[in-house]
Order: sequence, then C-alpha cells, then structure tokens
Amino acid sequence: MPGNPEEIKMVSNAMANVPRRKMMAFLTGGEKTVAEIGEAVGKSMLDYHLKILEQAGLIEVAEGKVRLTEFGKNFMEGKKETPAEKADLSGAKPVEIAEVRQLLPCIADTTKLRIIANLAPPLGGALKALEPLFPRGRYSERIGALIIQRGDVLTTLYGAGNVTMTMIKDESEARENLQKLKETINEAIARGVAPAPREKVRVEPMEIYKYLPQTNCGECGEQSCYSFAIRLMNGEVSLDLCTPLKDPKYRQNLEHLQVMAEYI
Ligand code: SF4
Repeated sequence: MPGNPEEIKMVSNAMANVPRRKMMAFLTGGEKTVAEIGEAVGKSMLDYHLKILEQAGLIEVAEGKVRLTEFGKNFMEGKKETPAEKADLSGAKPVEIAEVRQLLPCIADTTKLRIIANLAPPLGGALKALEPLFPRGRYSERIGALIIQRGDVLTTLYGAGNVTMTMIKDESEARENLQKLKETINEAIARGVAPAPREKVRVEPMEIYKYLPQTNCGECGEQSCYSFAIRLMNGEVSLDLCTPLKDPKYRQNLEHLQVMAEYI
C-alpha cells in the first residue's frame, strides 16, 4: 500500500486525470477486460493510463483483465459520498478571513499577485455543500478544497482553512474579494441549507495555456502548447505528458494546472 511521499505522489498524479478517474470508477463495478474499459472510457492512450494506475498500486492487470487492488478498492471507498457530506451546513459556523499571510508575484503574470489567506474556523467537508454558490465553483475530493474561478482570479479554499488566490491586482482587490467570499459563505451558513446546483462553466484552453511553459517544445507530441491545452481540456491527453512541467522552476505552474484540471 502506498505510504511514502513518492508513492503518495504517484497515486495523486494517477488520479489527477479524467480518463483515469473514469477507469477507476468503472472498475468499482468489478473486474473488466481491457477491451471493456476501452469501450466504456475511450481507447485513447488506454495502455498508458492503465500503466500509470498500475504503477500507483491502484489496479492489477493480468492476461487482458483489470481489477482494483485492495488499496485501489479502499481508495475508491474513501471517495464515496456519505449522506453527512452532502449539502449539510447545519454544523458550520460563520467564518472570518483571519489574515492575508503572504503576497507573492503571480506565476502566470508577474504584474499580478498571489495571496495566501486563512479562513477561520475551518469549514472542512462543509465546503462541498457550498460548491453550488459559485457558477465556477468545484469541490475537489482529491485535494479536499473548493476551487472557484471568477474572471482570471482562481481561489482555492481548503478544508483546513487556508485560502489561495491568484491573479490579483493589488492587496485591496484581494481584501475586497475575500470580504465578498466571506459574506457569500456566511449567508449560506445563516440559512443553513445548501443552494440549488447551478450550471457549471468550463475552463477555456487559454486559461490552461497561460500556465504551460509556452515553449512549444513538442515533447508532449503536440506542435504547440496551445494545441496541448485544447487536447488537455478535451480529456484527450494528461498533464504528465508535458515533461518540462517537472522542472522545479515550473512547480507553481504545475500545482495551478493540477487544480484547474479538476474542472476538466
Ligand atoms: S511538452 Fe509542454 S512545453 Fe512542450 S509543447 Fe507540450 S505543452 Fe508545451
């Protein structure tokens, strides 16, 4: 069972991809043949995706048949929603934005800021119930965070209370956005019920492109970073094919793209 940081990272990378998440969900129904998985999820890069899941210890592949490992089963069990996690704000307390702890240059546009703040008390799993408040809000089970996009600004609220906000013009814009966020959340908490789901808005390729290395090096098999962004958005390729992103200088870009991949 994965336990050390490197193994945990492999699991995290394996699950940071839509086709692979679909494969895992499909396999919760029991053992399947490779052909059945291809029919259900798509044949594009099927062997590659299976290999990544196998290397992460989530599945076993033998004689053309695929099944979840014990770890894979436990992992998927942990992803199931429990009734208590659904749309329940009854235990949530009104929040305050405690502080803006850091102001850093934004990775996609150095004229903009990246802020790290704190939301107290932490909302934990109640964040999930708040997802429908934001047209471009998405709760990620994988990272335990609510991700909200508004214009260029991407806000990530983690269950533990920390908040990151990127592409902010200045500190006063950051404080204004945080104040609005706090008011929206506290109104929902005061009502005690989760809002009705709203239609979700997709991420545009240009938003992904902004965080790619933009070198058009072709290592991913695409002629340009922009065409990679389009195929990534369509779920046809996975982020780990852009190997330059593994360079430490792109660490923040990769983190940001992994968050955005939750929308895809
Ligand atoms: S590997 Fe990454 S940097 Fe190179 S072209 Fe593809 S997306 Fe762009």
